[in-house]
Amino acid sequence: MKKVIILFLALLLAAVLTACGGESTGGGSGEAGFVGVAMPSKSIERWVYDGENMVKELEALDFKVDLQYAEDVVETQISQIENMITKGVDVLVIAAIDGEALTNVLQMAADADIPVISYDRLIRSSEHVSYYATFDNFKVGVIQGTYIVDALDLENQDGPFNIELFGGSPDDNNAYFFYDGAMSVLQPYIDSGKLVVKSGQVGMDVVATMNWSAANSQSRMDNLLSTFYTDEEVDAVLSPNDGLAIGIISALKNIGYTDLPVITGQDAEIQSIKAIVAGEQSMTVFKDTRALAKKVVEMVTAILKGEEADVNDTETYDNGVKVVPSYLLEPVYVDENNYKEIIIDSGYFTEEQLQ
Ligand code: BGC
Repeated sequence: MKKVIILFLALLLAAVLTACGGESTGGGSGEAGFVGVAMPSKSIERWVYDGENMVKELEALDFKVDLQYAEDVVETQISQIENMITKGVDVLVIAAIDGEALTNVLQMAADADIPVISYDRLIRSSEHVSYYATFDNFKVGVIQGTYIVDALDLENQDGPFNIELFGGSPDDNNAYFFYDGAMSVLQPYIDSGKLVVKSGQVGMDVVATMNWSAANSQSRMDNLLSTFYTDEEVDAVLSPNDGLAIGIISALKNIGYTDLPVITGQDAEIQSIKAIVAGEQSMTVFKDTRALAKKVVEMVTAILKGEEADVNDTETYDNGVKVVPSYLLEPVYVDENNYKEIIIDSGYFTEEQLQ
């Protein structure tokens, strides 16, 4: 009899743990509601902070949270969202891996009356996206392009300077905004010949980096260097984020560059801030994930109260079916001169974390 009871309790515990999901946090009392948070992967540092911040903000308001990471596998993310729907979440917050792949699962959510907030990346091809919260993605690119122009002093120098361009993942809507923003600044200098793309590789169709993979950016940079830069150096590399910048830096260092070109980034990852301090990466774009989580939690709260959420852009983010009402936060550049003020003084990282 005892054995049967123990077995029964063990099975019950297992069932409860399974219902909570691998990454699930439970936490808050759940009085305020139940929120499913689907994140792309832990392999890029920022999403870890996004997840942590979302849980912290939601639990502080007595929400129960189911946080899941899908290790960049689209099918995994879809089944995690299906599970959240089955578990009866009140709202879904989704940072999509592939912005085009969620049409069916969002229809399931709509059938169950579960509103969806698109987190950082726009979910495309679905009318069932209530709101979008992100940073001004075009501006991220403008900041990167402007940094290159200023660092090479293109207004005063004749050049020509060599530049190579990298784009983000082609299934991520943001990647096009980053690239277009940067090119809005760089293209006039390419047209006038002050900037030269020796490889001739221009346009997202040729410069994109599937899955935001640093290994891919490193191997593409290896190829560019061995094919086009055997007798001249590259002066600047447009990298859309920190992960790709680290791959590009490795390729350059591997063939002996000590004086590295101007290299951009995004996300203010620890490894990149260290590279900035070491003079290897020039800059990054800081997008405070604490502020994004706060904004999204405000949206969740408004939705559940049946109120309109606060938005500041109702024109830019057309997902192919509708223009999604959006809140855009401000990105800021970080380099060796201001990282202490922006990153350390704001409490994002401690001095020790950057050692
Ligand atoms: C995010 C960036 C991030 C990239 C790779 C983009 O959608 O906006 O912050 O670097 O995905 O994860």
